[in-house]
Amino acid sequence: MGRTNSDHEIVELIASGQASTRADISRLTGLAPSTVTGIVQRLLTSGAITEAGAKSSTGGRPGSILIAASTRTRCLVAELGAHHVRYGLANAHGILTEQRNCMIDISLGPQKILASLLEYGENLAQETECELGGFGIAIPGPIDAASGTVIGPARMPGWNGCTIPDLLTQIGDLPLVVENDARIGASGEYAYRRHLDPPGSIFNDYVYVKAGSAIGGALVENGTVYTGARGIAGDITHVRVDAASGRPCQCGNTGCLDTIASATAVREELRERGYNYPTNSALITAALDGEPEVVTVIRQAGVHLGEALARNIAFLAPQALIIGGTLSAVPAYCSGVAQALHELCLHSIVADLAVEASLAGMDAALWGLASAVSSLLLPTSTHPHPHQARKRAA
Ligand SMILES: [Zn+2]
Repeated sequence: MGRTNSDHEIVELIASGQASTRADISRLTGLAPSTVTGIVQRLLTSGAITEAGAKSSTGGRPGSILIAASTRTRCLVAELGAHHVRYGLANAHGILTEQRNCMIDISLGPQKILASLLEYGENLAQETECELGGFGIAIPGPIDAASGTVIGPARMPGWNGCTIPDLLTQIGDLPLVVENDARIGASGEYAYRRHLDPPGSIFNDYVYVKAGSAIGGALVENGTVYTGARGIAGDITHVRVDAASGRPCQCGNTGCLDTIASATAVREELRERGYNYPTNSALITAALDGEPEVVTVIRQAGVHLGEALARNIAFLAPQALIIGGTLSAVPAYCSGVAQALHELCLHSIVADLAVEASLAGMDAALWGLASAVSSLLLPTSTHPHPHQARKRAA
């Protein structure tokens, strides 16, 4: 076992309560006491663990109690939407421990929204008696994964060009990850499926699409999310599609996929037919209640998404297409997507292609952020999850 793996394993043993002394570690790992002493010293120096007094021993000499510094440390993870924020806490092992929802208006602009977000996080940390040691934020628009700069979002007035890390000076040099919601959702799906017991179907090469108020996507290749040349890969919501020809879009163009395959488009289409669903959740409730008109429109939106994705799927030939976001909760949407792909792609491409709803569901982005930020907390981390992470410069 390599040195880094030993370090990480030992932090995990301490954090999980299995080991609290050097002797425990030696017994559990089979490592020689001198080796354990060396590793513990290194972890103490790095701050990954701390020492807290002596433990009365039942036999041998008393050993100091070791405490993982991370046991009370949590990462605040938050996914911003146009009208709501879903946020929560994750522990140092990338496991989501708390989730909350709250209404916001993203058009209030980045300063106000980010300040509120930090306040929610601090309140939640206080409530759960832990301290914030890292931050992860998912943005519902194109974002340069390397710098955390928002690039030309369609539904985020006041956010264009703003570099999120520059607006979060309060957090000092604590780890910070800023990512696009669909891309971080794609890596969250990867992390979540491995966390499940028993694990969900595991894919390493897949396309993930978040179908919510808009449509975002990501390509995961061999477990790594592809970010593209400018770090803005996957933003397919404003590609022009024939079926949307002439429809005006919030981006200022006409004919975008957004106008026929998103939850916003579905609600608009239903409004034209005399049905009013003021929120996405009202829409989903109606669909799951089997309201025929709603299911029909949602299935057709899925078909439109499948038609738009067919070329990508044929070109990339992934193991799976995983559909996340609000609309993925409606089976008719996913089956609409599958139907279009089966009609438009060669049998060899779709025969073994899994088209399925996200298992992480509404928490996909939070799991992705949890995985990404937590991997920055432990100096010895060997988290296998791919992510786009940015540690704030001191
Ligand atoms: Zn558009």
